[in-house]
Amino acid sequence: MTPRLILIPLLIAIAAANASAAWAQDKGTVDAKPLPPLANPNDPKIGAKELFGRKVLPAAMPTRVIGFYAKGCIAGAEPLPLTGDTWQVMRLSRNRNWAHPDMVKLLERLSAKVHKEASWPGILVGDMSQPRGGPMITGHASHQVGLDADVWLTPMPDRRLSREEREEMSAVMMVRADRLDVDPTVWTPGHLIMIRAAAQEPTVQRIFVNAAIKKALCREAKGDRSWLSKVRPMYGHDYHFHIRIKCPPGSSECEGQPEPAASEGCSAGDLAFWFKDAIIHPKPPREPPKPRPPMTLAQLPAACRQVLAAPDAKQ
Ligand SMILES: [Zn+2]
Repeated sequence: MTPRLILIPLLIAIAAANASAAWAQDKGTVDAKPLPPLANPNDPKIGAKELFGRKVLPAAMPTRVIGFYAKGCIAGAEPLPLTGDTWQVMRLSRNRNWAHPDMVKLLERLSAKVHKEASWPGILVGDMSQPRGGPMITGHASHQVGLDADVWLTPMPDRRLSREEREEMSAVMMVRADRLDVDPTVWTPGHLIMIRAAAQEPTVQRIFVNAAIKKALCREAKGDRSWLSKVRPMYGHDYHFHIRIKCPPGSSECEGQPEPAASEGCSAGDLAFWFKDAIIHPKPPREPPKPRPPMTLAQLPAACRQVLAAPDAKQ
């Protein structure tokens, strides 16, 4: 096969992989069609994302966080109201503004603090979880148990956005074209204030940001810098940042993860990996990645079957 012929299927595979993701900058639609019913909903091989993705409302059960951030579900999730004084939810067609009540309260509190301390009108909230959590048809490996939320790095405009705008408006790319630092034309002191306010929340376990943003925070943080240990570099996260909270007290079925190391993670050695050319400009794989079979319901904690089978909660 000539190199050209090898390249074409590869490009198709990359395009397909990208098409299945749903990131902050991907647009939605105001007339989203409900997903068609499944022909074989009881097929044990069916992806759990197909089942959880079709639930429009939470389970009528008490609040329960079941499993791990990237393998679980939630009962009794609450919605973040679509519009608050200091926040607005984006991409409403995705119906992902659901979370554990502690996360909903945290986002409301964070937005008020950002309004006050960063003088932003407020925050724009991206994906949280589905009404019953679980895997999603597009995007995110995590966000499954109602303890993860994405917040845009674009300040909320000083007005109520229309339905169309909430589907179509683009988030702002914060990373400079060479990927080595933030873009100084869009990065502001308010960004540090917002990420610091999130990291200083006692229940926050980790924050994910692009490495260029971590670098900027390391350079600019003054005074108490202990919060920097929770802010971890991650691929992507150049249009939004990700807040993860710990298992709420009393959630015996929730599987947490170890606390991040106490160090700031700001040394040249800490950041070196993320600025290697192979990470900043990854080469396409020699062979198209084989699509992995989706996570099935049997692979999730058994209690997620109850969550899925429960009637809809009354709203
Ligand atoms: Zn996220």
